[in-house]
Amino acid sequence: MADYVLAIDQGTTSTRAIIFDKSGSIIDSGQLEHRQIFPKAGWVEHDPMEIWNNTREVIGLALSKADLTRHDIAAIGITNQRETAVVWDKKTGKPVYNAIVWQDTRTQSIVDKLAGDDGPDRFKDIVGLPLATYFSGTKIVWILDNVEGARERAEAGDLLFGTTDSWVLWNLTGGVDGGVHATDVTNASRTMFMDLETLSWRDDILEAFGVPRSMMPEIRSSSEVYGHAESSSLLRETPIAGILGDQQAATFGQAAFEQGEAKNTYGTGNFLIFNTDTEIVRSQNGLLTTVGYKLGDEPAHYALEGSIAVTGSLVQWLRDNLGIISSASEVQTLAETVEDNGGAYFVPAFSGLFAPYWRSDARGALVGLTRYVNKGHIARAVLESTAYQTREVLDAVNADSGVPLTELKVDGGMTANDVLMQFQADILGVPVVRPVVAETTALGAAYAAGLAVGFWSGLDDLSKNWQEDRRWEPRMEEADRERLLRNWRKAVTKTFDWVD
Ligand code: ADP
Repeated sequence: MADYVLAIDQGTTSTRAIIFDKSGSIIDSGQLEHRQIFPKAGWVEHDPMEIWNNTREVIGLALSKADLTRHDIAAIGITNQRETAVVWDKKTGKPVYNAIVWQDTRTQSIVDKLAGDDGPDRFKDIVGLPLATYFSGTKIVWILDNVEGARERAEAGDLLFGTTDSWVLWNLTGGVDGGVHATDVTNASRTMFMDLETLSWRDDILEAFGVPRSMMPEIRSSSEVYGHAESSSLLRETPIAGILGDQQAATFGQAAFEQGEAKNTYGTGNFLIFNTDTEIVRSQNGLLTTVGYKLGDEPAHYALEGSIAVTGSLVQWLRDNLGIISSASEVQTLAETVEDNGGAYFVPAFSGLFAPYWRSDARGALVGLTRYVNKGHIARAVLESTAYQTREVLDAVNADSGVPLTELKVDGGMTANDVLMQFQADILGVPVVRPVVAETTALGAAYAAGLAVGFWSGLDDLSKNWQEDRRWEPRMEEADRERLLRNWRKAVTKTFDWVD
């Protein structure tokens, strides 16, 4: 039997292929970034063809670095940026428009129209989500309304929709020559169209949005054989056996399988996921209800989620738009030149505010400035904003669950930042814990695929692989924590009502 599983991590900034062994250790990987396309303020797009070409290339890179062939790979797992919408022609295989990325806010007027007199929670009991520009549903509507001829072609059954898992799966399994058009329950739970109880598309909601059902992928579990890589692929005949949206994959990779376990991922944005087992918990505090995972025919596991739009991307903004650092890791060096934030608070409401506020009218603010503030303070304010936003989400989780979390498992690119992780533990008042394998997103997809083909025998096998790397203990005085949080909350109120 083959000794490895390959995970494709189709992320917001890059696509990776990572090869794992049975212990969950990384053998080798390939990674390519794709262009971030910003045609107008608030618009964010990716080129789906570039993403697919990168996917093929990173698979080749990972295999050649590890000196392995398809015979060594037991299964392929896919994980992906979630709400990003691709619409393509099933006869030509060509996208009809760029992928509209989860951060994109262009669909606000569609959101408002759908909310009508019922408000943004119109479908929330059924789908677990408020109406917001974040989710893929309104992005499909925008493409159908704005790309010439798209609606007619969709109604004629020629166009397919998918999040990037479906786009990669369809292409990997043959594209126009019989590609499999499917998604998993976790990605489907981010569209606005899936009923959380029945795990199937809701015709009434599709109709309310004006999206033809024929565009929608088949909803499958997160761990089963969806198809095999097509004959010209480097991985031909290898089963594709796992799909999980990136945040759910990270939760799975962190082995947070039990009710009450949680993880927080620090990437472009931050996403805290809290496992509620097989129970659908409806949040009273601004969290989303989402599917955590579903293994084959077993019942679905659900989760509460606190999504934060801008965390690591604020560090990118500091680098690319202001140029006061030349690499993401330099933000730490700069922050270490000062003792504290100097009174400055940065609320990065670039895409409105997600959890727990859900204010699409919010825009970013840097407040508390005096002549004293320098770029070191601003670097600190940037890092601190991630920690405050996480604290507010954790407060919501604790309020919904009634049982406060006693520690937080973390992962993602920003967890390399020691200043941030220490401040996070300080501002939460509970320890922050990072595992050895920080690539939990890809690992989770590998786990889902490996389970489906018997590479791993069950969840116990996976839990044994989890190992602690580092732990940050809180050491801030309560009074200081309270003062910082009070000022942060005041700063947040300054971001409201910026959209006419
Ligand atoms: P994604 O999967 O969303 O693309 P990653 O988990 O790869 O994200 O994390 C990348 C993000 O982390 C980027 O937004 C980057 O700015 C940020 N980042 C990377 N290294 C650091 C660091 N040392 N300090 C702060 N932020 C960092």
